[in-house]
Amino acid sequence: MCFIDSSTSVDIESGEISTAEYYCIECKNKFKALGKKIRCPACMSANVKKV
Ligand SMILES: [Zn+2]
Repeated sequence: MCFIDSSTSVDIESGEISTAEYYCIECKNKFKALGKKIRCPACMSANVKKV
């Protein structure tokens, strides 16, 4: 038996990273972010809205 060691290489580079625009309710800052837990980079508030 021959095992090829390509173990845990997940293909992350799909080339399509979709960033969404958010608006901070606290300081009215507009910023782009991606992910689920978005925080305002200016005031670190989680009170943001998707634009
Ligand atoms: Zn803010």
